[in-house]
Amino acid sequence: MIAKIIVDVAAYPIDRPFDYIVPEAMESIIEPGIRVKVPFGNRKVLGYVTGIKNETDIAIDKLKSIDELIDLDPVISSELLDLSRWLAVQTLSYEIDALQVMLPAAMRAKYEKYVEVVEQEDILDEEFLNFLKGRKRVPLKEADTASLLKMIKYYTNEKVITVDTIVRQQTAIKKVRMIRIEEASKLHVILESLHSNAKKQFELIQWMIQHEGQTLTSKSLLEQSGISPATLKSVIARGAAFEEYAETYREPEAPGMKDVAIPVNLTDEQVIALDRISSSIEGGVAETFLLHGVTGSGKTEIYLRAIKEVLEKGQDAIVLVPEIALTPQMTSRFKARFGPLVAVMHSALSAGEKYDEWRKIQRGEVKVVVGARSAIFAPFKNVGIIILDEEHESTYKQEDTPRYHARDVAIKRAEYYGCPVILGSATPSLESYARASKGVYTLLTLLNRARNQALPKVEIIDMREELRLGNRSMFSLDLAEAVRNRLESGEQIILFLNRRGFSAFVLCRDCGTVVECPNCDISLTYHRATERLKCHYCGHEEIVPLKCPECTSEHIRFFGTGTQKVEEEITKLFPTARVLRMDVDTTRQKGAHERLLRQFSEGKADILLGTQMIAKGLDFPNITLVGVLAADTTLHLADFRAAEKTFQLMTQVSGRAGRHELPGEVFIQTYTPEHYAIQLAKDQHYEPFYKHEMAARRQFGYPPFYFVTLVQFSHEDLLKVADFAEKGSRFLKDNLSIDTQIIGPTAAAVSRVNNRYRYQCLLKYKKEPMLTETLQQLIKLYRTKWIKSGLIMTVEVEPMSI
Ligand code: ADP
Ligand code: ZN
Ligand code: ZN
Repeated sequence: MIAKIIVDVAAYPIDRPFDYIVPEAMESIIEPGIRVKVPFGNRKVLGYVTGIKNETDIAIDKLKSIDELIDLDPVISSELLDLSRWLAVQTLSYEIDALQVMLPAAMRAKYEKYVEVVEQEDILDEEFLNFLKGRKRVPLKEADTASLLKMIKYYTNEKVITVDTIVRQQTAIKKVRMIRIEEASKLHVILESLHSNAKKQFELIQWMIQHEGQTLTSKSLLEQSGISPATLKSVIARGAAFEEYAETYREPEAPGMKDVAIPVNLTDEQVIALDRISSSIEGGVAETFLLHGVTGSGKTEIYLRAIKEVLEKGQDAIVLVPEIALTPQMTSRFKARFGPLVAVMHSALSAGEKYDEWRKIQRGEVKVVVGARSAIFAPFKNVGIIILDEEHESTYKQEDTPRYHARDVAIKRAEYYGCPVILGSATPSLESYARASKGVYTLLTLLNRARNQALPKVEIIDMREELRLGNRSMFSLDLAEAVRNRLESGEQIILFLNRRGFSAFVLCRDCGTVVECPNCDISLTYHRATERLKCHYCGHEEIVPLKCPECTSEHIRFFGTGTQKVEEEITKLFPTARVLRMDVDTTRQKGAHERLLRQFSEGKADILLGTQMIAKGLDFPNITLVGVLAADTTLHLADFRAAEKTFQLMTQVSGRAGRHELPGEVFIQTYTPEHYAIQLAKDQHYEPFYKHEMAARRQFGYPPFYFVTLVQFSHEDLLKVADFAEKGSRFLKDNLSIDTQIIGPTAAAVSRVNNRYRYQCLLKYKKEPMLTETLQQLIKLYRTKWIKSGLIMTVEVEPMSI
């Protein structure tokens, strides 16, 4: 028996299946989707069995055998195996990368599998007992005969043993030592029994008498009493106090965990939309819907009901939400509806926790997964619906290889299962809306908010005018007044700033020098918490200079606005306001995100100040004011999607206000109030924006009128990179049709990163039958020849930004 195996070596000549002999012991076990260890060159590598056959063209004495089994059952289904082949072609990546992306990180090669005994008494097999040699846990690789492997499979099915990867939990709950002090009466007794030379103990017990009955951390007890740990230990031994261990951090209850009340009746618009989806579910039709509904129009409610139907049919559901929208509020709605049938997968989980969730899906213990991008590969075997909420989000595109878009994968999987895909958004991507307009997707529209609340009133404020009036603050007079109003009436406020850090950069006011990264052509960002300058591209860090590195002037200052600086200004302007800041810095710790949101939902703060991560998914009744401090920051990105991103963001944040009984108000501060993305965000009308933006895209030849592919080159040597970029673009010109525009090679916007110079080439085309083949050949050229000269070349089909 011969197995076709894709080995875990990402190199050009190896990007194909290799033939290996299946040892007799493994013959009854091995099937496609199982991972194995095989000899390759002079090492052992991980491999994925992708096929089984009886013959090979290779001389039998040249063939090597599989060394050991990593799995006893396939970890990748035949559907996903096919999908990985498709993915490798679509994204021009190695097949091994396309396979690896489907599994949680914990399942990569370095983790070994173990056989663990559950019911010792039930094991009677002589050979098996010999294999265990009394051990409770044995590495699977020690099982090397057919009968042992069969026994393992049998015992696993009988639940006598388990076979699993043991992943150490990196997030073991931290415990803190607490000391509970006894009553004074007991302490007095101990005091009297003390030996006269136990002075320190005497002192501590006297201190304890003053703090009788209290429970405090051992740390603070030692600090306050000024006594050594050894003394504390002795008095505990005498019974003066008890030790307890408390969890420092418990998974907080999600805000709104009660779930928003389940609506009894759907609105007319919801009924129409759900009907269309239901008939696709019933008919088993692979249909893609674009559910376009204003914020608060009840899209999520439609998802929940559609999923219910799918579950009743005995099928599974995949729900993708952007990472930042994976708020406890969102996930708790699913949990409240479907209880333990829901698995949640987000990046805050440790490798072990992610693996646990993945296993629940693999074993069929859950029926619904709610997760970020990679959850699209959830190993369900009977998918009945795939939902992408906020489908316009750029996080659905993976930035590293394989550079897939979750939307494409969703549609591909849905084709296989004959099930609907729902793309939901208040501000669909131009691509999706264009497809819906052409009838490629089925458009479903919700024009009104579910509880008929009016959309919030949006006011655009010209910050140039404020400057002219002498207001140099970050708050316009109108916004400041609105904030004061809310503070008085006890309503809540969201302030949105599209940046992080305290000040964007450090500038010398005498010579104009901006402190830049030594490795990249980009200014360094000032981080106040650590008092350091950081490069967001390469991670370089340095201390803040006291003098200008160019002219030694001391007039070196921080410029730009960040959340920390806004927070300070808020405290100055509104001294009574209680502010919660939510940005990358305050949410780095696990659980911080949830904790902040919970505090806000419990009314423990008046203002929630934050970046992108507060723009989505929040649904709190008491928020009546949203202020956007500077709408322009996304507008000036050198990117064809800048206007689209700005419009989306403005609409999303605005949607946080007035979702319940109290009406909402929104202020958008900007230096370019005349820009159509901002003007049109005012009324939150998508259609006019779509038309305007489409006209601009057509004029400049961008998606969705054209497809684009970006080829990037980088090298330590400027001349070399220019030379390779030239070669690359010539190759493309020679092989692609004349209708395809090739723009470049040009230096990239950030022309040097991490001491590597960067060039790029942009392809624009409507139809290019030779595209995949040409790019594959270019990649072959790179991987077999150019790579040796230190070049790095990446090819990205349909990038999210350029
Ligand atoms: P979206 O996902 O479009 O933002 P949601 O589904 O979150 O909208 O609905 C917004 C709010 O309206 C939620 O509080 C939800 O419970 C409520 N809601 C949704 N549908 C209805 C309905 N048919 N009747 C009453 N309330 C509804
Ligand atoms: Zn200077
Ligand atoms: Zn750098």
